[in-house]
Amino acid sequence: MTERKDIRSMTLPELTEDIISLGLPKFRAGQIYSWLHQKYVSSFADMTNLSKDLRASLEEQYEIFDAKTVLKRTSAIDGTVKYLYELNDGNTVETVLMKYKYGYSICISSQIGCDMGCSFCASTIDGCARSLRTSEMLAQIYTAQRELGIRVSHIVLMGMGEPLLNYDNMLRFLDIITGEDGANISARHISVSTCGIVPKIYELMELRPQFTLSVSLHAPNDDIRNRIMPVNRRWGVEELLDACRDYIAATNRRISFEYAMMSGINDTDECARELASRLGGMLCHVNLIPANEVRENDYVRSSAERLKAFAEILEKNGITTTVRRTLGPDIEASCGQLRRNHAKEASEI
Ligand code: SAH
Repeated sequence: MTERKDIRSMTLPELTEDIISLGLPKFRAGQIYSWLHQKYVSSFADMTNLSKDLRASLEEQYEIFDAKTVLKRTSAIDGTVKYLYELNDGNTVETVLMKYKYGYSICISSQIGCDMGCSFCASTIDGCARSLRTSEMLAQIYTAQRELGIRVSHIVLMGMGEPLLNYDNMLRFLDIITGEDGANISARHISVSTCGIVPKIYELMELRPQFTLSVSLHAPNDDIRNRIMPVNRRWGVEELLDACRDYIAATNRRISFEYAMMSGINDTDECARELASRLGGMLCHVNLIPANEVRENDYVRSSAERLKAFAEILEKNGITTTVRRTLGPDIEASCGQLRRNHAKEASEI
């Protein structure tokens, strides 16, 4: 059997072209697109305003890639919901839904696992099985919205994987999710996070994107960053920050630097001063995160006092800084843990 087309990864113009080439009226494309992107159905049988024959013929030619809930944990502390989804091919991915005063924000994965090898991160331990399709990134959002009867207002690509290494599918995802005929989420409410794939940052700035670029910096210099992030040996801190400066100049958008505070590793006053001097004058923002302690490594998160002192040094030196709250501490809401534990439990049965 020839492979069926991935219909949920198609833009409305692409779908319209297909539908017309099948000899069908153009408005059918709009109806199907709305089922896929506004009503989030996972089967053609559910598209009740289409004839049975048409549904059967669509089923033959197209596949709907879905994300089915395998595990769902809701934090009793702050309402954060963590999903483990199963994809059509049996792989699993993690997604986290967070509730804020302004609405719901969702953290989605871009790959199954990750190849970047950051030493503090649980998502990368088994490497990257494959990149996600556009439809599989969308489905993570759609399933949560369908099950909870909510709409998310903010999206962060900060789950498993390196989005800039799934570049084309990521751009297509952004195109569809911000489209008026789909979820219509403002690009300004979307953040894309990278560990620092410098050539892709240059490629991206050509597009003058409106979403926020987050850069996982986590260290003020090559010495520390080389030790915790292997990607730094390919593109060092200065090369990365040069790319960030160019990105800001090209897009006029503020960059957000992520900095996970790990006790005794990157959290001294000296680190704060060095970071401040390197970021001085940049249109940027530093997001300090108490590192999530994961079973697979020995890193210890910095104390609240250390975070505060570090933030004060940055602020004093003119760097806008926030300290991120830890959400869902009771449900393993951080990077890669739910999936790993689920796989481990399954293999122990
Ligand atoms: N690959 C991308 C996006 C996925 S990781 C990137 O590197 O940015 C999302 C964020 O979580 C990154 O900032 C990553 O460095 C951070 N992270 C991973 N493990 C963590 C941990 N144990 N504690 C705190 N932050 C962590």
